[in-house]
Order: sequence, then structure tokens, then C-alpha cells
Amino acid sequence: MTGRFLVTGGAGYVGSHVVRALVARGDAVVVLDDLRQGHRAALPDGVELVVADLADRRRVAEVFAAWKFDAVLHFAALSLVGESMRDPLRYCIENLSNSLGLADAAVKAGCLRFVLSSTAALFGFPKRIPIDEEAEVAPVSAYGESKLMVERGLAWADQVHGLRSASLRYFNAAGADASGEIGEDHDPETHLIPLAIGAALGTRPPLTVFGTDYPTPDGTCIRDYVHVTDLAGAHLRVLARLERGSVRFNVGNGTGYSVTQVMESVERIGGRPVPHTLGPRRPGDPAVLVASSARLREETGWSPRFGALDDIVRTAWAWHVAHPRGFGDRG
Ligand code: UDP
Repeated sequence: MTGRFLVTGGAGYVGSHVVRALVARGDAVVVLDDLRQGHRAALPDGVELVVADLADRRRVAEVFAAWKFDAVLHFAALSLVGESMRDPLRYCIENLSNSLGLADAAVKAGCLRFVLSSTAALFGFPKRIPIDEEAEVAPVSAYGESKLMVERGLAWADQVHGLRSASLRYFNAAGADASGEIGEDHDPETHLIPLAIGAALGTRPPLTVFGTDYPTPDGTCIRDYVHVTDLAGAHLRVLARLERGSVRFNVGNGTGYSVTQVMESVERIGGRPVPHTLGPRRPGDPAVLVASSARLREETGWSPRFGALDDIVRTAWAWHVAHPRGFGDRG
């Protein structure tokens, strides 16, 4: 299905990789981004950028009046677990009202396809690994809770208005586009792979390993790192799947790697050590988070091309070496 899509947060990390994939297959894309975290330079030529805050409902309605969209892909959100535990109400209010306000505008404009960037954080401390879509949802952070509330709102919008939605519960998005032109550039950066690479390159301080006493083989946390290009591919496949109704999919590689294994991979790819210190656990971190993406694979034919951790780290390394200041658009 090619068409015209509204991508909120399309100048951000995951959003920009999805925009690139849409443009590459010939779709028209309008990006709505307030550029608080996003970067103008992350967008390819030919993409219309509307710089606006999602809370500005009038502006959002104008965007829907100006173009007719086949679907909305919604990435713009507050997304830091730690920050959400310092300011839980802001997370709940902003993520919920912006997301459902956007869905409301879509419904009113007759655009009845919606893809939500959701999160593995809504599973909290999972009872079973790998985590499939039947696992209990029980967030242990306000961030996870805010996304769960959005998913629930979308279910009502389907029942009442026929808004077909796909909630994609991402595990750990990582890596960068193979072109080396776009990649991860957050401020503040809190994610393991960019911090480990920055430590190895000397552009960031030594990494702190958050906890070495977890019940895992080497004592550090295990996560499921999924390449951002594979994640983007999942969005494209899901757009077609929406024709058959609303869905929720877990999106990960299905293989877990520990913090120590990630550091070892960075050392292998970069050919230099990752300076680090061993620290205490980070509150709210489950020991192991690994996805079962069996449903996504079966229902859409998706499969990751970057399954191996070294392949993921290699693309991230290339991006950070070529862009030590990221997109370089911060003061
Ligand atoms: N982590 C770490 N040091 C850091 C950042 C992260 O040890 O400076 C660990 C963190 O505890 C988790 C894993 O790396 O087990 C991935 O964390 P990240 O913040 O990248 O993603 P999350 O799993 O929180 O979504």
C-alpha cells in the first residue's frame, strides 16, 4: 500500500527511519514534529515538515484539513522511564492527551488507520520470557502506564468509530540506517548502546553498568535489541495488515543480550575498550526483557535482517564515528 502518511515525531530516532522507509517505497509523507527531540536534518528531501506541538489542537486539525492521509503513524511522545518516575503526571497527561487528541482529529477527518509507537515497558516485570502478546500488562513506570492508557483509548475508538490501530510494543530500538546519514541523537542520551560507543570513542564519560547482581548468567540485565531499520520495516508491513483489523504486536529480535555482551560487541566492532564502572541497579529495570515476535512474523511475514548484535552495533558505531555531535543542530 503506497499513499500519503502523517508521521508525528518523524524527525526523531525511530520516526525518521520509518519516514525514510516510506519515502524509499514511494509514499508521500507529512511530518509533524515540534523539534524538541527531533532534527530537521534527519528528514529526506521531499518530506513536508510541519513544526508544531501536538497539544496545539487547532494546528493539528489544520494539518488534517490540508491533506488527506491514508494513515497516521504516531511517534511523538515523552519516552524516558526515569523521567516519568520524577514527573508521572506530566507523562500521563501529555502522552495520553496528545495521542488521543491526535486520534480524535484523525477520526474527525475520516482517517481511520493509526499506528502507535508503544513499548515493552507496559509489561513491567514479566512472568514469562519470551514475552508474547498474551502476557499480562502491568507497567511499573508512568511511561509504560501512559502508553497502556493510549492503547486502551484506541481500542474504544475502534469499537465506536472503526479506527483501526496497530500498537507496536518496541523492545530496545538500536542501530542506525545503513547509509550512515541518520541515527540516534537524544539529549539527554540514556540508552546503553550510544553511551557505550561514546565511552569507547572518548566523546562521553565512562559507562556505568547498572547492576551486576541480576539473576542472569553474567549478572547484568538482558535486553532484546532490535535494529531501527527492522523496526521501520515492521511499520510498513503492519500498515497493510491494518486492512484486516486492529492489532497489537511485540517487536523484537527474540534474542537477549546482556549489558556485558553489548560492551563486548562495542569493543569488537570499535577495536577499543569501553571504559566503565560497575554501579548499582537502576530502579525499575527488569532482569530480562525478550520479545516473542511470533505473531508479527506470522501475520505480516516480517523478519529482522539485523539479528546479530554485532550487526546492530556496527551500524550504530558507523553513525557515531561519522557524526560525533549527532545532527549538530544543538547549541
Ligand atoms: N544500562 C546501563 N548503563 C547505562 C544505560 C543503560 O547499564 O548507562 C542498562 C540498563 O540497566 C538496561 C540496558 O542497559 O539493562 C538497556 O537500557 P536502555 O536505557 O538502553 O534501554 P531500556 O531497556 O531501559 O529501554
